[in-house]
Amino acid sequence: MNTEMKTAGAELLSGKEFAAAIKDDVASEVAELKKEGIEPCLVVVRVGEDPASEVYVKSKVRTAEELGIISEHRHLPEDIKHEDLLAVVEELNSRDDVDGILVQLPLPKHINEKEILETIDPDKDVDGFHPMNAGRLAQGHEALVPCTPAGIIDMLKRKGIEMKGANAVVVGRSNIVGKPMALLLLQEHATVTICHSRTKDLADVCSRADILVAAVGVTGIIREEHIKPGATVVDVGMNSIDDPETARDFFGEDELEKRLNTIEKRGSTLVGDVNAKAAKAKAGYFTPVPGGVGLLTVAMLMKNTVKAAKLRRQ
Ligand code: NDP
Repeated sequence: MNTEMKTAGAELLSGKEFAAAIKDDVASEVAELKKEGIEPCLVVVRVGEDPASEVYVKSKVRTAEELGIISEHRHLPEDIKHEDLLAVVEELNSRDDVDGILVQLPLPKHINEKEILETIDPDKDVDGFHPMNAGRLAQGHEALVPCTPAGIIDMLKRKGIEMKGANAVVVGRSNIVGKPMALLLLQEHATVTICHSRTKDLADVCSRADILVAAVGVTGIIREEHIKPGATVVDVGMNSIDDPETARDFFGEDELEKRLNTIEKRGSTLVGDVNAKAAKAKAGYFTPVPGGVGLLTVAMLMKNTVKAAKLRRQ
């Protein structure tokens, strides 16, 4: 276990490496299940033509195939009626060969997203967004847990970062990242504080964190004064910047030129909630954006699909 705080500049935690390790484990589990005649199956439902959703869904389906998980992509028209989408979910609920159902968000405005998500059978809810799974997680029972926070816990464990007794601060309290992240850290026996938009003196609270998770969606909200020397800083945020001045503030010499080139070529560059220059100088471990947490999410979706396949047959 890494119990001592690191001080000589942050070690970057590579999402690619941890995602590869998770996927290796999943591929082995799938092979074992196949020997027992069980073929895990994931169905991804996409509505409409949102370009980002298309990219995400393709990556999910491709990853499933790579790992031997049967996958189905249901692409439905933008103007599908709410009742018809409900009927698709109900049909998937009733199919015995389907272990995981994921409805890609966002859904078109005329669809009642909450009702759709609550209609998914909780035992097939591989995104872990159903209130039944949120409740199971809150009560410390076996649950399908949202992929991003579950992936972060998996990464911290693989790296041997001590959570027991650690001061953990989660900035953000959404149902898909912040709250489940805090509950998972609590399950690992961390002392957990949750911050949000009304928190007074965010820097003071964060600067006491041994483990700091930022899931806000505000570029560079976490700066030098928020980081305890040697802390583990996990950056969930995904924001884009197009201004060279912001890039100069955000990145040190090791990365600045590359980022300025990206802004010049593509008009913007992807950044997180944490000022990368500050984290690299002061943290012990740091997840970069891109190349950090984002890559864990799809890998954990596969893990959840295998988990659902097993739990449904218990
Ligand atoms: P939400 O917008 O649902 O939640 C943001 C949270 O941040 C809210 O709880 C909000 O507080 C809090 N917040 C906003 N402003 C401040 C502030 N000034 N100080 C402190 N807290 C603040 O976002 P998500 O949880 O869905 O996502 C967060 C970020 O993570 C986004 O950038 C998103 O793109 C990214 N993300 C990345 C994923 C990945 O795989 N890498 C997966 C999912 C999300 P309040 O509740 O008071 O409004």
